Amino acid sequence: MQYELAITHLYPENLNLYGDTGNLIALKRRCEWLDIGCSVKNLEIGDKANKDKTDIYFMGGGQDNDQLKVVEDFHDLKYKAIKEDTENGVVFLGVCGGYQLMGHSFIMGDGKSTRGLGIINIDTKAPGKEVKERCIGNLIGEINEQTYFEMSRMYDQDRDLPRTLVGFENHSGQTTLNDEQVKPLAQTLSGFGNTHNGKTEGARYKNVFGSYMHGSFLPKNPHMADYLIWLALIRKYNDRSIKLPSLDDSIEFEAHSYIVDNYAA
Ligand code: GLN
Repeated sequence: MQYELAITHLYPENLNLYGDTGNLIALKRRCEWLDIGCSVKNLEIGDKANKDKTDIYFMGGGQDNDQLKVVEDFHDLKYKAIKEDTENGVVFLGVCGGYQLMGHSFIMGDGKSTRGLGIINIDTKAPGKEVKERCIGNLIGEINEQTYFEMSRMYDQDRDLPRTLVGFENHSGQTTLNDEQVKPLAQTLSGFGNTHNGKTEGARYKNVFGSYMHGSFLPKNPHMADYLIWLALIRKYNDRSIKLPSLDDSIEFEAHSYIVDNYAA
């Protein structure tokens, strides 16, 4: 069977920091190389989201002000469809500002508070005086055990995948995960991740993923890119036996290892 995936890029005009659009390029290219048909649609302010039209949503990072600009539009034109989709297992990846915005509330650096998008039970606060410095630098995390277990079985052959995710973080917001259904995406090995003084990076709820990793995230973590593609395929085709062929990821993993080898704490 020829597989097809539809990707929706949310607010590329407003939320596109530090090369985050590279995540879309990686997903698209990997789908081509894996012989999976792939279409990408942008939804900007003013565009309505419709249910059951998308297999993977992506939303990148943004400055506080850019995040603020999209909140009302999201609730007016997108929330209902995207919330139903994500509750039904549609894949969603949010990076940094996009990740923060997926939660319930976001208290910004200037003290202004805004509701979030309400896709996942997290809250984010820019703590001003408590944390003076931004969390900036290379970030390395060890992937959550359950996620890694699934990931390591998604190929049609055994592969020795790295246990790590790597990326570059640059944020002031500090994120807390509020309930047991929301698991950290990784344990922080180097850098900060969700908070300046904690040990977790990113979050996962169902197939909704948030991460503080720019860099871009997916090009440096091809196993994560394939995992999102695989999750989207098994959901869409309702077939957990789907396996992905292995691509030659030697260049991608060289970039990945460079970070692990040079920036591990
Ligand atoms: N505005 C957010 C912060 O600084 C996110 C920035 C980003 O996406 N890198 O916390």
